[in-house]
Parts: sequence; C-alpha cells; structure tokens
Amino acid sequence: MKAKLRKRLHAEGLRCTHPRRCIVEALEQGPKTHAQLLRETQLDRVTVYRNLIALQKIGIVYRVYLPGHEPIYVLCDADSPTHAHFFCKNCRKGVCLPPGVIQLAEPWASYTERVLLLGRCPEC
Ligand SMILES: [Zn+2]
Ligand SMILES: [Zn+2]
Repeated sequence: MKAKLRKRLHAEGLRCTHPRRCIVEALEQGPKTHAQLLRETQLDRVTVYRNLIALQKIGIVYRVYLPGHEPIYVLCDADSPTHAHFFCKNCRKGVCLPPGVIQLAEPWASYTERVLLLGRCPEC
C-alpha cells in the first residue's frame, strides 16, 4: 500500500488493518467488483463489504455504476480532497482529475460531494 494512502487512513482515524490493506492493495492494481475483491483478497463477504463502506466514507474508494453491471470499486489516491473522477467504460480505468478541471456553478458547487465523469479515456 502506498505510504500516502496509509497516511490518509490514519488521518481519518482508521487503522491499517489486514483486510483494509488487502482491499486497498487489490484496488491499487485496478478497479474491481465486489466478487473480484472476494476472490483476490480471500477475505469473507461481510469483511469486504464493511471495509468498502468504511473506505468509501473517507473517500479512498468510490463506486461506479454502469447500467447492467455490478458496481465497480475504484481507488482514489490523489491528495486533494476536492476533485472530479473520470472512469473509462471501455478499459475500466479510473483517473483522479486535477482540481479545477470541472468547475460547477453555484449553488451546485456547494451541494455537490463528488463529480464522476464516464466516457472513453484518451488511450481508448
Ligand atoms: Zn481521486
Ligand atoms: Zn480506456
């Protein structure tokens, strides 16, 4: 697990437990579904589920819904607390966009927690 992710866990009051480390390390390799995480981490269903919720609450992980697919969990390893995400529907890669790329007008800027853009990445 990258040191900065470990630091973010600690900053949010979460210990770097074995399951959290396994899940974050699996997601460092690329976005995964719950089923893929179960297979790769060898953790039980409830442990994976609970830890994904905890990691989503602190913004290290976010969830992408594509119609007709299982939710996909993506790692956010950027330092800035406010930035938008881009997810490629083709290669299923998640990108943390630099802050300020997406500028929402008020009042929406104040009420929006996260912006997620879906599309095809430049490599696709
Ligand atoms: Zn991010
Ligand atoms: Zn792509």
